[in-house]
Amino acid sequence: MTTRVGIVGAGASGAGAAYALREADAEVTILEKSRGVGGRAATRRKNDCRYDHGANYVKDGGERTDSLLRELGDDGLVDVEEPVWIFGGDGEIREGDDDEAHKWTWTEGITQLGKRLLDRTDAEVRKGTRVERIAREGSGDGTDAETWTLADTDGETHGPFDVLLLTPPAPQTAALLEATEWDDDRLETLTDAVSDVDYRTIRTFVLDYDFRESYPWYGAVNVDDGHEVGWLSREECKEGHVPDGESLLVAQMAPDWSADRYDDPIEEAGADAAELVADLLGDGRYADPEWMDDQGWRYALPEGGADEETVRSAEDAGLFFAGDWTVGEGRVHRALWSGHDVGERIGDGAGDAAEDGN
Ligand SMILES: Cc1cc2nc3c(=O)[nH]c(=O)nc-3n(C[C@H](O)[C@H](O)[C@H](O)COP(=O)(O)OP(=O)(O)OC[C@H]3O[C@@H](n4cnc5c(N)ncnc54)[C@H](O)[C@@H]3O)c2cc1C
Repeated sequence: MTTRVGIVGAGASGAGAAYALREADAEVTILEKSRGVGGRAATRRKNDCRYDHGANYVKDGGERTDSLLRELGDDGLVDVEEPVWIFGGDGEIREGDDDEAHKWTWTEGITQLGKRLLDRTDAEVRKGTRVERIAREGSGDGTDAETWTLADTDGETHGPFDVLLLTPPAPQTAALLEATEWDDDRLETLTDAVSDVDYRTIRTFVLDYDFRESYPWYGAVNVDDGHEVGWLSREECKEGHVPDGESLLVAQMAPDWSADRYDDPIEEAGADAAELVADLLGDGRYADPEWMDDQGWRYALPEGGADEETVRSAEDAGLFFAGDWTVGEGRVHRALWSGHDVGERIGDGAGDAAEDGN
């Protein structure tokens, strides 16, 4: 019997899981609260510019990721060639030991990762669907089998699913577990383990200018947590993102600054961020961008990971987890492979069920 798989979240991990299941005997449904796919590997378009305002690029340095990305098509694949430099609290940008690994995105933006993975599957993606409750129920087919049913914030139900995979950041997954009806001791242990994973907050500002300077670096990262700017990069280094003669900076503010200023209006917080960027670059023109955009990432990067044994403890009941918090590192490729590995495990189970002649 075909295994019905429900996946919450169409970020790198959810898309990676669906991709791994593309040839399994499984019917995959993805529920995603946003209107697009990709999660924190996100791209936006505005005023003829395109910019990756969450993750900047996919960088692994290993052959596994490079060959998967090529498998998804070389067209529009961009390798950002300029290096990432470093700066400390003193604001002096200097050369670091960039490892020269590929830094991948696409001319159409990093959101292509999720799109391309999902385009190669038969998964149904229900966008604009925010899951708020989960229930474990009898399947009603006259057997002891139980299935998972989900309810969204519009009161619609989804399922039943034989297998459920949760991929939102840990605090959002913990909230879903708290809203789960399942008469099993593992639920509390799981909820506690997932709740333990904290996230750093980042507020991103996108600053556009009608001039372009050249620098020897694509990005610069603060390495001592001593600066209000955590990361600064030049989106014009990515082919197809910024019209000639313009520049577009992506400034990711440090976690403390981001948490303090999370809800401040963009006019105020953005102006302060632009001043900090101008100071960092030693050029007052950057304090006065042509236009700005912003995005708050409440759950930007996990501080650690959840205990693996606990995270996997409910797999025999068809409950799986994936995402950067399951591997303890906020990196696109780690999230992608965490989902892919779970997808393969689910696919193996689906194969077993099919062989059992169910
Ligand atoms: C500002 C910033 C910069 C970064 N820079 C880099 C970088 O340069 N390189 C790098 O490798 N990594 C970077 N990262 C980290 C990287 O983006 C993440 O680790 C990775 O994308 C996480 O993927 P995921 O699938 O685990 O989670 P997500 O991408 O968060 O996916 C989870 C999905 O679940 C959805 N969801 C949540 N709750 C619900 C619900 N209740 N119902 C339905 N859907 C729900 C969300 O909308 C989301 O689409 C950065 C992150 C941020 C925020």
